[in-house]
Amino acid sequence: DIPVITIDGPTASGKGTLADEVGKALGFGVLDSGALYRVTGLAARRAGLDLDDGAAVAALVPTLQLSFRDGHVFLGDEDVSARLRAEATGLLASQVAAHAPVREALHQLQLDFRRLPGLVADGRDMGTAIFPDAALKVFLTASAATRAERRYKQLISKGISANIKGLREDLEARDERDKNRSASPLTPAQDAQLLDNSALTIEASVAQVLDWWQK
Ligand code: C5P
Repeated sequence: DIPVITIDGPTASGKGTLADEVGKALGFGVLDSGALYRVTGLAARRAGLDLDDGAAVAALVPTLQLSFRDGHVFLGDEDVSARLRAEATGLLASQVAAHAPVREALHQLQLDFRRLPGLVADGRDMGTAIFPDAALKVFLTASAATRAERRYKQLISKGISANIKGLREDLEARDERDKNRSASPLTPAQDAQLLDNSALTIEASVAQVLDWWQK
């Protein structure tokens, strides 16, 4: 059995960084499942689809020419990585992610990331819906204030101007939608380890996950 570690949690909780670091430490591959919803939202918008039409968006998924190279996401020949990380794309992602047919259309693609020697998968439903047999499940949280501040610093460091209050409102709106949708709502798996990293350094969070893994 190919081992999987799942890291689920709300927007900007630090899942991506934690998954990358744990993946590096163990030599495992990493699945950023949010990127799949982001690229789907972006492509649906570009195709002029109604984002509330789950069947139409789901039908677009198999036609996407997606590839993943060196941590970058390509749509055809275009490197869309920077575009995917924009807040606006996060909102598109959460809109299309609310539809069960879209989630089904992306299901197998996510399973395909499970390769030897192992996988660290980050998202909202990795431990509940996609990899229910994962050997270790982590549910990562942090206060909304902490998450907004982290996202703010990230954007500023990239030279992108941002507003903390607006960021916090956006992430809380996205969390509400992710928690209240009927298809795979954001909720910890029953057997998940809860990790609140509001007051933890990245190193301390990584050490905690590796400690759970070794047990
Ligand atoms: O994690 P990230 O911020 O990239 O996710 C963007 C959006 O995609 C989330 O707000 C959520 O609606 C959706 N998503 C999801 N299931 C996942 C990963 C992301 O519904 N496994």
